[in-house]
Amino acid sequence: MGKKTKPIPEKKGTAEPKPTAEKKADAAKAKTDASAVKKPKFTKIVDKRPAGVSETGLAVVGYEISEDGAYINTKLHYDQLYTIRHGSNSKLFLGFLEGKLFATRCPKCGDKFFPARTVCWNLNCNLAATEWVELKPVAKVHTYTIAGWSGRSSLKKLPFVLAYGIIDGCKTAVANELHGLDPWDAEFDMPLKVVFKPKEQRVGAITDWHFEPADGWKPAPMNPTKERMKKLTLPVYDWVKTMKE
Ligand SMILES: [Zn+2]
Repeated sequence: MGKKTKPIPEKKGTAEPKPTAEKKADAAKAKTDASAVKKPKFTKIVDKRPAGVSETGLAVVGYEISEDGAYINTKLHYDQLYTIRHGSNSKLFLGFLEGKLFATRCPKCGDKFFPARTVCWNLNCNLAATEWVELKPVAKVHTYTIAGWSGRSSLKKLPFVLAYGIIDGCKTAVANELHGLDPWDAEFDMPLKVVFKPKEQRVGAITDWHFEPADGWKPAPMNPTKERMKKLTLPVYDWVKTMKE
């Protein structure tokens, strides 16, 4: 302990200098490898920001002072447009625009992942590169919660069921809203279908679709747990009705 480790001396003169022709070939190969990752040129641009909303970033845009001159509030405006680069996961989001669900599958163990994983997470597969497969729009509830409170953008949708669904036998679950049922009727393992918004409303994001109960599914009869959830949930409907714009 406390001993200084000796620096490993650099090896000198062990590698034979390469002939010039070979060096040139190496340089050419490096250039080819670099150009293999071609920088995409984005030409189809959809911008659905409301009129009058522009990117300003963070700016102090004003202040207000109380009548007696004793207090001041600062008005801070924040507006930032983010670009999320999906890279090799792009097929997932391009699929949403077409109303399709693409997952990745491991060629070694066959496990499927949605959302997509670039490599298999099964430890036996040694990070095998996965391949794209299309899923059927069928799922089941892995777990769920009834949302009685949310961020500002979703307040008026309350109460809603947020479900973690396992789509078409994948090894991963994905969170999305579960519509088309009374919240207290949601059940573990209940069969679901994936429902996409109309094509013109899709923006290539997970909000392009939601879950609904599978056709023919019937909720179980009321029981004490469901009664309790109903009692907790009903006031949320009334509260949302009182919300101003
Ligand atoms: Zn695997």
